[in-house]
Amino acid sequence: MTEFGDSTEVDEDPPIVVVALDEDGNEIEEGEDALEVDADGVADLTFQERDYRRLSYDSDDRFAIYKLMAHFREDVVRSGRIFCAGAGALGNEVLKNFALLGVGELWLADFDDIDRSNLAKSVLFRPTDVGRPKVEVAAERLALMDPELKLVPLSGDIRYDVGLGVYRRMDVLTSVVDSIDARVGFNRIAAALGKPWLDAGIGELSWRVACWSPTDGPCYECTMDDAMRYQQHLPYAPSCAPMAEAIRDMQRQPTSPLAAAMSGAMLAQEALKLLHYERMDEPPPELEMPFGQQFYFGGASPYLEAQIRRPLDDCPGHDYWGEVHEEPGFTASGTTLRELLERAAELLSVTPQQVSMRLGFDLVYELYCHSCSWRGEYFYPRRGLHLDLNCRQCHNEARPDYKRALRVTERFADRSLADLGFPKLQIFLIYGGKDRIAIELTGDEDEVIRGG
Ligand SMILES: [Zn+2]
Ligand SMILES: [Zn+2]
Repeated sequence: MTEFGDSTEVDEDPPIVVVALDEDGNEIEEGEDALEVDADGVADLTFQERDYRRLSYDSDDRFAIYKLMAHFREDVVRSGRIFCAGAGALGNEVLKNFALLGVGELWLADFDDIDRSNLAKSVLFRPTDVGRPKVEVAAERLALMDPELKLVPLSGDIRYDVGLGVYRRMDVLTSVVDSIDARVGFNRIAAALGKPWLDAGIGELSWRVACWSPTDGPCYECTMDDAMRYQQHLPYAPSCAPMAEAIRDMQRQPTSPLAAAMSGAMLAQEALKLLHYERMDEPPPELEMPFGQQFYFGGASPYLEAQIRRPLDDCPGHDYWGEVHEEPGFTASGTTLRELLERAAELLSVTPQQVSMRLGFDLVYELYCHSCSWRGEYFYPRRGLHLDLNCRQCHNEARPDYKRALRVTERFADRSLADLGFPKLQIFLIYGGKDRIAIELTGDEDEVIRGG
């Protein structure tokens, strides 16, 4: 956890002159229907019937211009917490926009390091950054743009290395990852938590932006056709890594910083609307989110269209886990698999033998080498990025054994959840009898969220 810059004392707001304008733009004399102001003399200008404008602002205030925007609430934006999955070309644009807008807290995740080809498309990266983690460099540059911005760069996989409790505490979730499989992963996370998320993708001249909600209309997976599903699994099909890398290279789309800038701007604008929508008690109707619509821009002979697909029956992308049960005494490094499952059994009123934890992915737990008969424990997601299947003894490829669910009878049940590869502040879905429960390692909250 990193926090850049320290918060400085904010001066008291300068006096703001508010006038009402008629349809022709003429000033209306203050009369009986004068604008109501609160105790500090501040008027709420959010979508009034009349066209009210704040006509003067402090030029020392870098965010003063936003005070003129009808939908922009400085308190909402300055205290807003946004997650951005992906810090590539598109991530650069989106993150840069959030910093310019004065968002209070940004969490950014990416597992990649910067290579030379990234320099053509990424506004935050410099030639001297080649070889460094994308999120680390992006966070440094964003801190220069707004020293008050709290930044949390996470170098890792959004599915396996970030606890679901992190996503649960975000006001807005955005994803600008470049693979179908990672988008599906993010869609499942959002569904589990019952939260909407913003998604964007870029092509050569075209781009798309969508706001998916697991409860309102189609989700990302509802829009997937057979070709997309084939592509989703393609990088994992071959057992040998160079082949998988070659397939990833073949799938690489030609993209430019132009499509990234256009879609990054639209995504950031929708994120800003969603932030107000989520944080305001009574969001104005103008901030109604277009859930389930995908905005597609075709750049050859330019057009923008809103695409609406029908939600698919039995789509797996809408599985809401229900209200999360918080366990303040549980942490990833201090709680064992057995302790977690026994607590779940207690909460579900069943015996520990009756509960099982559904992983939602294949967890490798053991390697066996046919060449030299070596066998050893190894806990890693089967689709994790740095999966290492080499025999630790003779370095030939070993055979992985994996599980999709875990029970109290596992040999490794007394290992800590961190030993098994689970991140801090994780939320687990545990079945028992006819019921299920989502349990969070809430004991990690202080360390992860507040950096304490
Ligand atoms: Zn769906
Ligand atoms: Zn071996």
